[in-house]
Amino acid sequence: MTIAAFTLYPYRIAFRVPFNTSRGMQRHRRGVIVAIRLDDGTPGYGEAVALPSFGTANDDEIVHRLEEFTPSLRGESIGQARAILGQELSDSRESPVRFALDTALLDAESRRAGVSLARHLTPAPATSVPVNATISQSNAEAAEKAASYAVLAGYPAIKMKVGMTDDGEAEAERVRAVRREIGPDTELRLDVNGSWQLEQAVAVAGRLEEFDIAYLEQPLPQTELEATAELRRRISIPIAVDEDVTDRRAVEQVVSHGAADVIILKPAIVGGLTVARDLIALAEENDIRVVVTTALEAGVGITAALHLAATLKPPLPACGLATGALLEHDLLVQSPVFIDGRMQVPDGPGLGVELMESVLSVK
Ligand SMILES: [Mg+2]
Repeated sequence: MTIAAFTLYPYRIAFRVPFNTSRGMQRHRRGVIVAIRLDDGTPGYGEAVALPSFGTANDDEIVHRLEEFTPSLRGESIGQARAILGQELSDSRESPVRFALDTALLDAESRRAGVSLARHLTPAPATSVPVNATISQSNAEAAEKAASYAVLAGYPAIKMKVGMTDDGEAEAERVRAVRREIGPDTELRLDVNGSWQLEQAVAVAGRLEEFDIAYLEQPLPQTELEATAELRRRISIPIAVDEDVTDRRAVEQVVSHGAADVIILKPAIVGGLTVARDLIALAEENDIRVVVTTALEAGVGITAALHLAATLKPPLPACGLATGALLEHDLLVQSPVFIDGRMQVPDGPGLGVELMESVLSVK
């Protein structure tokens, strides 16, 4: 069984609401759907998007690298192709490219085996995965409103973006308002995106402790693992790392420094589901919990992350997979089903999704 063909389908989709990032306003998401076909006609799909704030190449570089690299896999078996990905795409800037190709190989392989991708990875995957809502409004009233909507929609956990202001008092007020709105039963996480310094983090965390925070995500800048470990010893709120989780060596560093209680794992950033499974094993051996999140892909990338999340050790944490609604559409005929705060894992063969005809007829 060898790889007969590759086709790339670049896309550009509008964000429903322009997305404010540290790199300015983003109005569109660009990405690429990668389609492979085995010599018996079995298809496989993957998706690559850029996430430069996590150290990846940019949109154009990703398309270029896919165009340049994919011809070298033609005629190879799936096993050989996977080995080539590991050798040739080990630079973390190229991780989204490796993620897309690894997903396409796994999709084709599990379709041939007649099982879902999650079941291909582990014998008894979860059938649904709890997901979190994300609140990034910087004003207390808007944050409160978004939180109340998220609770009504059934989300078991809310992730709030913090660290957008140096005013610790205002920050604590916004968190207080959201906790009051959601009540005691919804999990509340705070994502700092690396914008605090150690002493500032100790001071703000002291103010936030009373709001029952599940964890503080990436409180300090990337690579400051010694300071993060010190912070973890000095405050009672658990610590998660996200921007720090780039590859196996990075996770080994997090473990050896004792820097985190939780790692946030984006398959697009670590280079695919195969690598991610390895990192999940490493984290679980060290009693570190894993939360899987997307890199704001359309439906193929989200569904790949969903299958990965279904392989986590129960009880499953709420994962950052409910990001499809940020885009005007996800390119799928049927998006993964969301019921009561959980996303259902498609149980058909492979990823179990079908791409819209209009995507595949672009070429
Ligand atoms: Mg984060």
